[in-house]
Amino acid sequence: MRVVVTGGAGFLGSHLCEALLRRGDEVVCVDDLSTGRPENIAPLGADPAFTFLRADVSADLDVPGPLDAVAHLASPASPPDYLRLPLHTLRAGSRGTENALRLAGRHGARFLLASTSEVYGDPLVHPQDESYWGNVNPIGPRSVYDEAKRFSEALALAHHRTHGLDAGIVRIFNTYGPRMRPHDGRVVSSFITQALSGEPLTLYGDGKQSRSFCYVDDLVRGLLAMLDHDERGPVNLGNPVELSVADLADLVLRLTGSDARVQHHPLPVDDPVRRRPDITRAVERLGWHPEVGIEEGLCRTVAWFAARPLEVAAGAEA
Ligand code: NAD
Ligand code: UDP
Repeated sequence: MRVVVTGGAGFLGSHLCEALLRRGDEVVCVDDLSTGRPENIAPLGADPAFTFLRADVSADLDVPGPLDAVAHLASPASPPDYLRLPLHTLRAGSRGTENALRLAGRHGARFLLASTSEVYGDPLVHPQDESYWGNVNPIGPRSVYDEAKRFSEALALAHHRTHGLDAGIVRIFNTYGPRMRPHDGRVVSSFITQALSGEPLTLYGDGKQSRSFCYVDDLVRGLLAMLDHDERGPVNLGNPVELSVADLADLVLRLTGSDARVQHHPLPVDDPVRRRPDITRAVERLGWHPEVGIEEGLCRTVAWFAARPLEVAAGAEA
């Protein structure tokens, strides 16, 4: 296959590019490096099956040559990133998604949308299955991300219904692992970098809010399964083991052997209280389920950060 990966220089996108190349596909990575990093894809540059195009998907998107699939991941994803880049985020989800859909349409290619558990907002149903419509504040600060993804889903299905485009949607729940930016502000990267440098762990609110954390290798297997399938979705991809954020802090402190303390900060506006995927659909339709437990996944992630002490200590930003 020849696959376009938008957002391919980011955390998830770079792992997806690597996995596609590993199985023999050709990859065209399109990324504007707004939140991604060149070092994520630097090792792939030597592979003749890999091409990098630096471009903003919201401006225009044309890729010469035949195409079998377009995986659309281009969008800021960390809350501090999309709060810093609100208009860019809305454009990536609207014009960017439309450009990616049109590209897939011109080539008769499969289109895969990387949507998010944030379409469920602060959910009133627990755990969340795909039939739940969500509880999103349409004008709050997080809306630039949540509503962009909800619009992306509607747009993808409208292209399917109107033009017969082969579109599939996955709703990704919190994913972590190597190549997260050390200071991207997400909870796993923040707690690990803080624990490793002996800084206080920034716990928002009382820490009783929960998330369900999926290791990146598991998630990428799910993306590949969906790319190869003709399933429309949406399909939840995530690890259903739920953890409070306070328990995550304790776990990171134990696994790093750090004696850093925990410092409470105000809970961000509209921060969802609980989140856990019902993955029945992914299991039944894709034969997918996560395999890496939280301790194993965190150990691998800690090892990756620990091997980059200068970045961790310097607060180096992308
Ligand atoms: P990331 O910020 O590491 O990667 C996003 C990539 O998209 C970056 O390389 C960035 O430079 C690129 N990008 C952003 N806007 C662009 C534009 N207009 N044109 C071209 N490139 C652009 O984030 P990630 O965690 O790898 O997330 C990837 C995708 O998966 C996103 O669409 C995100 O919404 C989705 N997702 C991720 C998670 C998660 O836990 N990581 C959860 C749910 C959904
Ligand atoms: N969080 C925290 N400290 C941090 C970063 C995040 O306590 O330094 C909390 C945040 O309030 C949320 C959870 O951890 O309840 C997950 O946050 P993240 O930004 O990683 O993902 P999202 O909110 O998008 O699920």
